[in-house]
Amino acid sequence: MSTMKAAVLHAPHELSVEEVDVPSIADAGDVLLKVEKTAICGTDLHPYEGRIEIEGGVTLGHEFLGTVVEAGSAVGQVEAGDRAVASCVVNCGHCWTCRRGDPGRCVGSRIFGLGIALGDLAGGQAEYVVVPNADLTLRKLPDDIRSSDEDLLFAGDIMTTGYEAVRRAMQPGDTVAVVGAGPVGLCAAMSAIALGATRTIVLDKVPARLKEAERLGAIPVNADETDPADAVLELTEWRGANVVIDAVGHESALTSACGLLAAGGTLSIPGVYLEEQLTLPFGDLWLKGIKVVTGVANIVSYMDEVIELTEAGKLNPATIISHRMGLSEAAEAYRMFEAHEATKIVLDPRI
Ligand SMILES: [Zn+2]
Ligand SMILES: [Zn+2]
Repeated sequence: MSTMKAAVLHAPHELSVEEVDVPSIADAGDVLLKVEKTAICGTDLHPYEGRIEIEGGVTLGHEFLGTVVEAGSAVGQVEAGDRAVASCVVNCGHCWTCRRGDPGRCVGSRIFGLGIALGDLAGGQAEYVVVPNADLTLRKLPDDIRSSDEDLLFAGDIMTTGYEAVRRAMQPGDTVAVVGAGPVGLCAAMSAIALGATRTIVLDKVPARLKEAERLGAIPVNADETDPADAVLELTEWRGANVVIDAVGHESALTSACGLLAAGGTLSIPGVYLEEQLTLPFGDLWLKGIKVVTGVANIVSYMDEVIELTEAGKLNPATIISHRMGLSEAAEAYRMFEAHEATKIVLDPRI
């Protein structure tokens, strides 16, 4: 059996690039993909920092694209030689929630590279990866690809997570406020602009991130310098934002997000919350008639739209990439990412 390079996590902060066996497809719905680009995501820090328990030797990575090497006999949407991007979440496609168009709630959901608790799938920070249920998990990239690989790479995770957070909540002409200008927040801001928001306001405390938001066409608000609620009210004739996106996933961000909402508005939460209870200004939310939409993103439901909009030049998530490195430098890349020395790192498995 031949071997390949893979970024393997053995224990919190113990990551090394090593030679492991090239995986092989086990199920008729599987595809073996040769990885060409893979990114490090904030979620990868959960196993890296020990918040998700890993059991000796997990290949990390759930943002990747590449070329199909081999497709199982039941795969109909891609064949060997096709280029494709993977959803970070693998859904079953036929359970009750999947049938109702809500695959984020699929009880059979698995995520690449997060260990046994999340489905025991080897990740894509490797030269090869097996993609289960490939007809649903993969999207074939157009042959005459107009956008860059680096833009399309994010259709399987952060771009589509940010997009859905806006898409499920926004009407054309709405004002959208995004709390948090990390990768998902910037993708949400990009989506709001592409989908026709009147104003897209981005709140953060890090000047470099706010500058990036401004470059995308959003109105930056530095929460260290201005009261975010006052800033949003002033920009909206004292109404507030119709849609507020909490792209942080921390109680303080949620509290801040609640204060920005217009009456009848929607609070959309792509940020991840694992707390059992949180304190919310519930009387205010009730009086304003606020809708709250939340939960794991429906990646496979929105990937096609995101790819189309990316191909049309309306979404350019590659602009948030700060570093490009070889997979062989993965240990250093994780150190930099954890230390906030990099906003988004793309790894090339061929280097
Ligand atoms: Zn991710
Ligand atoms: Zn399902």
